[in-house]
Formats: sequence, structure tokens, C-alpha cells
Amino acid sequence: MEQAVHTPQPSIARPVICFALSAEFVEMTKHCRIPVAMFGNYLEFSQQRPESGCIVIGTHEVPKACKLLKNLRSDPAIALTPIYLLKDLGPEVAPLCDGVVDTIDEACDKAAPINKLLLDLEARQLADPGNAPQRLLGYLYSRPNSLLTPVGDWRNERFYSYPMMDAMIPPANGATVLQGLMERNLLAPAHLVDRLRHCPGCEGVHLNYIDTCPSCDSIEIEQRPFLHCFTCGHVGPDDQFIASMGLTCPKCAARLRHIGADYDRPLENFQCRACRHVFVDPKVTARCMHCDTANAPQDLLPRPLYALQLTEKGRISVRTGSVEEVCTLLDCLNNVDNSYFESIVDWLISLCRRYKEEQFSLLGIRIKNVVELTDRIGRLRVRELMDEFARRVRELIRSTDLTTRTNQYTLWLLLPKTDAKGCEIVRGRILALQADAGDGLELESVPFHAPSQLVTGEGAKLLMARMEGAIIE
Ligand SMILES: [Zn+2]
Ligand SMILES: [Zn+2]
Ligand SMILES: [Zn+2]
Repeated sequence: MEQAVHTPQPSIARPVICFALSAEFVEMTKHCRIPVAMFGNYLEFSQQRPESGCIVIGTHEVPKACKLLKNLRSDPAIALTPIYLLKDLGPEVAPLCDGVVDTIDEACDKAAPINKLLLDLEARQLADPGNAPQRLLGYLYSRPNSLLTPVGDWRNERFYSYPMMDAMIPPANGATVLQGLMERNLLAPAHLVDRLRHCPGCEGVHLNYIDTCPSCDSIEIEQRPFLHCFTCGHVGPDDQFIASMGLTCPKCAARLRHIGADYDRPLENFQCRACRHVFVDPKVTARCMHCDTANAPQDLLPRPLYALQLTEKGRISVRTGSVEEVCTLLDCLNNVDNSYFESIVDWLISLCRRYKEEQFSLLGIRIKNVVELTDRIGRLRVRELMDEFARRVRELIRSTDLTTRTNQYTLWLLLPKTDAKGCEIVRGRILALQADAGDGLELESVPFHAPSQLVTGEGAKLLMARMEGAIIE
């Protein structure tokens, strides 16, 4: 049943979809070895939707190609299909297509390895409109050398964007989705592209750095030559000193004959026209050209910008599709988030250190073979197995026990007031569940008891990392 979802059709049997035809392009379609389905625009295509493993776009107009590519990449059913151009149309178009070809046959040849990798993925799941993040990962999976690369555009408030992501995910959610994928370690930085300073008010990056008066903030300042009278110490713009008899101090009327002896040129050489304040260094203000906020440069938010790559975890996640979703079944077991779980373990550890009669047990259970099982028996069956496993575990734990998951496959049980023997019993019962599940859920476990196994100075984080190390091969 599950196998029917994979429809391994060699790309060659399906027609090549050709868009935006010129006379020259039509001529080209007559000479290729594969059938061709021709469409003038996306709307025409969307009314027929032939299955295809390769798309060629014939237009040489950047806006037209851009619009077409955005439509195709945002269409869940066809988003991951290899798309080629007949001409390099520059940096706006390049991140959305798979390259440039000279002939339609060449496009099919280049598409073949991508289509082969796409067969690893669950097509129906990737085509689910609500599954845009998985589609983005699927895109990177099927193009192993590709990165999610930011492209700069002065028309963009943030300057940089990830065009492929924007096409697949509505831009309003893009930043959150991307952050989520990075936090889950499915995407990771490949290299640093740039570092931008953002307005703390609106996140805009178009800033005007302007010199202002440090006293009244007016921008109307001017750089002027200044003189400094040694007799009275007056400092002022040199035109104040110019008199009919040569240079004269406007304050004490001393004649200034020799520079170095009567006067000199001081460092101050800015004057504010608004408040007449005299100063050496103007104050620099970064005024946001989006929201008009004036920010001190040190208040701007520096943000690094990376080209992103699919991690090994991301590869596994997209290949097994819903392993993650299957594992969330475990989350209904008195489940709390990691940091809360850790803080409770830390608290119990301190109690055990202080009061000799206190004790608790911790049990780490790792499901070793979810990925292999999904490959072997299909996702639906694995889902059933996990569901059943979660149900049985729920029967075994008390309402005072807490659980958490530290990665997709490691389940933690915190058993307060439980001695090593009690923990061993729970562990034995849970391990017995793998024998009941005929298809073979393989479990690995590691028990811990406090205070008998307490290590001096070790907190929850370190303890759980150490235990997890023991069950990850
Ligand atoms: Zn001023
Ligand atoms: Zn003077
Ligand atoms: Zn702003």
C-alpha cells in the first residue's frame, strides 16, 4: 500500500513542459527526443497540469521569467521539478532555476539525477500545501550541491532575502520558518555572506549616517577654520578675527600678529549654525529611512547573513518525511519541554545532595531504528507502532512521572521517589514492549539513580548528555 505513494517514473517517459515560446524555441522543440507540452503562461499550464520531470522556460525577459518561476516554485505540486532557462537572465532569476541549457535534451539529461533523488522523498507529502518547509528541505536534498543563498536588492526593506524560500513560503512566515529550521538543526550556515546593521525600531537596513551637533542635534553644522587668542583664550571662527588692521581678537581686541606667539589654530573646527556650539567631533546619527528613527550607531543591531545548507539531520528528516511527526506521538506522555525537565532534574539533584532520604531515577530510552523501519515497512505502519508504543508507555508511568524528548528519538522518563530497583522494573517493562511489537521497534535504554550514582558537580544537562552518549552508537 505504502509503496504506491512512490511512483517511480523515469523523467524521460513524461513530457517536457515548455513555457514562453519564441519562434526559435518552437523550432528547437521539433528536434528533441522527448515529447513536449507547450504553454504560453502559468495559467494555461495550471488548467491542464500534465505530469512532468522537467521544465524549460524560453523567455529572455527577466520580469516574465521571474514571475513564471515564482508561480512554479510556489505551486506545491510542481515546486521541486527541475526548471531550466535557455539564457542566463542574471542574479534575480538564477536562484529560482536549476541552470541554463542549450537544448531541451540537455535539460532532460540534467534533470535526471534530480528526479532520481526526488524519488527518495514522499511525493504526496511534499505536495501537501501545508508542507512548505519540508518542500524547501526537499529542494536542497534533491540538489545536493545547492545552498539557500541570500540575494541583495535595494528595493527590499531588509535588503537581503532568500528568493527560493520566498517563492515556496509566504514571505510573512519566511523568517519564522527559517529560524525554526535552523533551531531544529535541519539547516545550518554554510558561509557568512554579509553582516548588516538593522534599525532597532523597524529592522530596516536603509540608514543614513549623518553628522550632527553634539549639543542640539541639529544637522546644520559646518566645518570652519578657527583661531585661538592666547591673550584671552577666546576660540572662534576665523572670520570673527578679521579686521581692517589684520587679525584682531573680537573679545579682548588684542592684535594677533604671529601664529604660535599670539594665536594658533585649535582642534575645534565645527560650528553649529543653530546653537553656535563649537566642537571637534560631530555626533554621528544613523537615521532610519524607513521609520525615521534617529539611532546612535552603537544601538543598531548587527546581524550576520549566511548562505544555508541542509544538515545531515535535515537530510534524514526530509527522507523519512514524517519521522518527526511520528515521534511527536511520544509527546503526549506527561511531556514537558527540555529546559523545564532539566530544571526539575537539577532541583531533584540538589534535594538529594542535601537530604539523605531523597531519591529519584531517570531513564533514557532511545528508539534506534525509526529511519530504517520507515524505509522497510512504510510510514503508516511505523506511525501505528509508535502510537501503540506511546499508549503502552502511558500505562506504565504514574501521573507524577515526567517525560521529555531531547532529540527525535530519545525519550526521557523522570521517576521521582523511585529507587534503582523500581527504575529497573519500569525499564524492563518498557523494553518488553519491543518484543510485543512484531515489526521490530528496537529500543536502547540507560538508567540512572540518585543519590547512589550522583557525580560530584554534575548537573542535569551534563548528566543527560553523558547518558545519551551511552545509548547513541
Ligand atoms: Zn547645535
Ligand atoms: Zn582675546
Ligand atoms: Zn526604522
